[in-house]
Amino acid sequence: MKIPFSPPYIDDDVLNEVSETLKSGWITTGPKVSQLEKEVATIASVDHALCVNSATSGLMLSLRWFGIGAGDEVIVPAYTYSATALAVIHVGAKPIMVDICDDLTVDVEDIEKKITKSTKAIIPVDIAGWPADYDAINALVNREDIKAKFISKTEEQRMLGRILVLSDAAHSLGATYNGLPTGKVADITVFSFHAVKNITTAEGGAIAVNLPKQFNNKDVYSIMRLMTLNGQTKDAFTKTKVGGWQYDIILPGFKMNMPDICAAIGLAQIRKYKDLILPDRKRVALTYSKLLGIYNWVRLPRLSLNESESSYHVFPIRFNAVNENQRDAIIELISKKGVSVNVHFIPMPLLSLFKSLSYSINDYPNSYKNYMCEVSLPIYPNLTNPQIEYIVKVVVSSYDEVINNKL
Ligand SMILES: *Cc1c(COP(=O)(O)O)cnc(C)c1O
Repeated sequence: MKIPFSPPYIDDDVLNEVSETLKSGWITTGPKVSQLEKEVATIASVDHALCVNSATSGLMLSLRWFGIGAGDEVIVPAYTYSATALAVIHVGAKPIMVDICDDLTVDVEDIEKKITKSTKAIIPVDIAGWPADYDAINALVNREDIKAKFISKTEEQRMLGRILVLSDAAHSLGATYNGLPTGKVADITVFSFHAVKNITTAEGGAIAVNLPKQFNNKDVYSIMRLMTLNGQTKDAFTKTKVGGWQYDIILPGFKMNMPDICAAIGLAQIRKYKDLILPDRKRVALTYSKLLGIYNWVRLPRLSLNESESSYHVFPIRFNAVNENQRDAIIELISKKGVSVNVHFIPMPLLSLFKSLSYSINDYPNSYKNYMCEVSLPIYPNLTNPQIEYIVKVVVSSYDEVINNKL
């Protein structure tokens, strides 16, 4: 049996939606993107969501909107995909890394220690689809002594008057935190629609705008939209209307808009997300939990707690009392038996770029401790129960072979 790690969900509805878009004569940003934005806004329970060409772009755009640049610091977990920190670097600011808790989300106590007068934003990451502790993070940035440290350099920063909470929700569309959907628990939330994510547009992302009441979120959406289209007052679709040739460029925008041809893929998927795709991912996660739960050498990911629930994006297991070499050997055996697995994530301080920037893994012991024994199992809607049983059998036998020499 050969089991891929995360194939995209492509059914007849996706094919039809894409084909209809191609035949419509309009393939870049237009009606499909607008429809997808409405669907995302509904799931995230916000009034305005803006589609962009990747989550990385969405993070950069949000940081730039808030006026973050040279001399500023942005706090990120050491344990995430590098895009979280690269977005900060791309706007000219400095990523300040913090360690994680055992649920793989950012350690809020460590955040507090790393806040300085240069801190402009915190980017919590909802690893594997499990939301970070937003109540604690929001309480922290709203504390009077923390607010007193905040120095406003732009109108947006003055209006907020505190550190921005920008959620990297690349994994967590459809997850809930204390009864609220991700999108509704941070100031700005960025989802990813990269090919391996729960909903995909091949490449893409969306920004959910949920700023406090002193902001007009519709205006923020409109400005951000301009920033995805070169700062041009009329998008190409509007310009096709009669007399629509005139436009102005009012700010130095990026080119980060999502094309309709991509939105069409995500649109066909997202309509089935709550009723079909998400419940099926949950089935896979719960089946793994049941089958693996009987072994005391494996630690399972957190999927729900009180009013919080994962989006079941990644299924990260950790082996107790297993070192990095043993973990690598287990992965090799699992792969040889036809099951594709992965590691989420290599902590950034272990990667060359960040080493060259003087980050050291020794400063993030819990990130390393979780990384060294982690393996992510395949999870997607059409993974069948017999396939799941096979994967579990392969994981158990591979562990036994490496750790107990049971060949
Ligand atoms: C996938 C991912 C991103 C980047 O998403 P893109 O849409 O590929 O830019 C950012 N953060 C995390 C945690 C991710 O897994």
